[in-house]
Formats: sequence, structure tokens, C-alpha cells
Amino acid sequence: MPAGKPAGHPCIQLDANGRCRLFGHPERPRVCRDFTPTVALCGDNRRQALERLTALERATAPP
Ligand code: SF4
Repeated sequence: MPAGKPAGHPCIQLDANGRCRLFGHPERPRVCRDFTPTVALCGDNRRQALERLTALERATAPP
């Protein structure tokens, strides 16, 4: 996504199973490669991860 990924929108690189098409490829953005998931941020499942990410996006959205 050349202009960046807007909050609340899924990345265009996600496939139908929610997996990154660029994983393991050099084209994968550095911010993604440098991200280390944690239980504190991602929870134990997809639903928890999306809830926490949505809360973070809302808390850091521009006014
Ligand atoms: S890891 Fe990065 S490039 Fe891959 S789907 Fe997630 S946000 Fe998109």
C-alpha cells in the first residue's frame, strides 16, 4: 500500500485465510518484519487481536 494502510482497513496483502502474501519475501515492509507479536497486544486469538488493535487505533486517531 504505497500511501500506507489506513486505520480500520485490512492490508491488501492479506489472502482469503488472513495470511500475509509477502511473508518471507523481501518486499514485505520493514515495519511488518520488525513487529514482534506479544500476548499482551494480540491476545490469544484473532478476535482479541482485532479488539485490541481497534482500541489502539481509536485511542491514537487524529482529532
Ligand atoms: S504483515 Fe504487513 S504486508 Fe503482510 S499482511 Fe500484515 S500488514 Fe500487510
